[in-house]
Amino acid sequence: MRPGEPDGLERLWTPHRMAYVKGDVRPADGGAERAGCPFCQAPDGPREESLIVARGTHAFVVLNLYPYNPGHLLVCPYRHVPDYTDLTVPETAEVAHLTQTAMRVVRQVSGAHGFNLGMNQGGVAGAGIAAHLHQHVVPRWGGDANFMPVVARTKVLPQLLTDTRDLFAAAWPA
Ligand SMILES: [Zn+2]
Repeated sequence: MRPGEPDGLERLWTPHRMAYVKGDVRPADGGAERAGCPFCQAPDGPREESLIVARGTHAFVVLNLYPYNPGHLLVCPYRHVPDYTDLTVPETAEVAHLTQTAMRVVRQVSGAHGFNLGMNQGGVAGAGIAAHLHQHVVPRWGGDANFMPVVARTKVLPQLLTDTRDLFAAAWPA
């Protein structure tokens, strides 16, 4: 590791606080906690502001606004639950299935060489949004040189993320 080189693996466990492109805070449907939760609000936002890549029955896939690497996806259940053991069997199965599909799509679109997959369980473990479970799917490249160097080397811009969202959404199997 040379000085100044990004270390995606290290940052996987010390993540930035995640936030999403601003949308109006909707009236609370199920309590104050959910009203302030970006993963509860993400599926309902307008498409042009949403970073949602795919929607399942029990879970969805969204781009991380502050990716550790370009194409960093999060697989989230719709339900506002914090712990992996809170998931029902169907939710667990769909989170797993969406994770597999995310890997296939990212490989197809960006030629990722590998992935870091994982869930940070609890704030002490580095979860930025500890109250709402999310599985990280972080693509890796040899040396982490990749198909979107402009994204990797400059401040992340929402417009570029929506371009990435469009690429992944177009490649997502129907
Ligand atoms: Zn939530």
